[in-house]
Amino acid sequence: MLKIAVQKSGRLYEDSIRLLKECGIELNNGNKQLKAAAFNFPIEVFFLRDDDIPQYVYDGVADIGIVGENVLLEKEKDIDLVYRLGFGKCRLSIAIPKSMQYQSASDLNGLKIATTYSNILNKYLKKNNINAEIHEISGSVEIAPGIGLADAICDLVSSGSTLFTNGLKEVEVILKSEAVLSVNKKLSIENNAILDKLLLRINAVKTAKNNKYILLNAPNNQLKNISSLLPGMKSPTIVPLAEGGWSSVQSVVNENDFWEIIEKLKSYGAEGIIVLPIEKMIV
Ligand code: ATP
Ligand code: ZN
Repeated sequence: MLKIAVQKSGRLYEDSIRLLKECGIELNNGNKQLKAAAFNFPIEVFFLRDDDIPQYVYDGVADIGIVGENVLLEKEKDIDLVYRLGFGKCRLSIAIPKSMQYQSASDLNGLKIATTYSNILNKYLKKNNINAEIHEISGSVEIAPGIGLADAICDLVSSGSTLFTNGLKEVEVILKSEAVLSVNKKLSIENNAILDKLLLRINAVKTAKNNKYILLNAPNNQLKNISSLLPGMKSPTIVPLAEGGWSSVQSVVNENDFWEIIEKLKSYGAEGIIVLPIEKMIV
């Protein structure tokens, strides 16, 4: 039985549970229990505060955990990061009052910086030879300059709207973070095998999200050009249409190149283009 720690409530909760669900793992989740077993996969889910997850994984109370990379790095526990999950994206940044002049990181010298991420900040300051004072606080970091507690802050940012409403501007990004899968270094052979199965599923879900299934009709004299745009997983499927001179082409395209490919397909005379989401993709 593999024990996985996820955030009990907060920004990572929904996406963590959705990921398990998309992996086909059904939880026996009564309301607000500390843990839940899965019906159809040898996994047990522990619901914890995100700050506690690295310690629990290190101690082996949980075998693996879903946590922000920011928390993982801050806690400095000797556990492995095995997979970046692609949700919970944010950055850990330094922000200063809007009115303050700023040219480069050396302007941080002599400032008092409030943060809950003192380990990460300390490393950043050392690496960049900046002599600033770290003022560790446990929450509501963004109000620290406004109440005279500090000159600057180092905190998580996603849209920047919290900074804006507190009269601050982001001046340095010190870490780009997302939710990651962290793993205890001494997993049993049995749990390692379960983890491999889980990773195969997570990968299939993530790859599927990054790709779309595409079907289109192509004039036969353009098949070569069109096929070269759509390499797919091996090569595109090409089937003749009942109407002479035309074929149906089916393939997989990556989300990132999607619109560019569609434009080129149209310029090669493709018609009736249909795009479908993919649920799972095993490459
Ligand atoms: P807990 O009660 O579990 O301690 P928390 O209040 O510390 O929760 P949340 O605010 O729920 O934590 O954030 C959890 C994680 O979500 C963060 O550690 C970070 O990795 C990620 N995250 C993504 N965007 C943001 C953001 N804009 N602000 C804060 N965290 C964010
Ligand atoms: Zn927390």
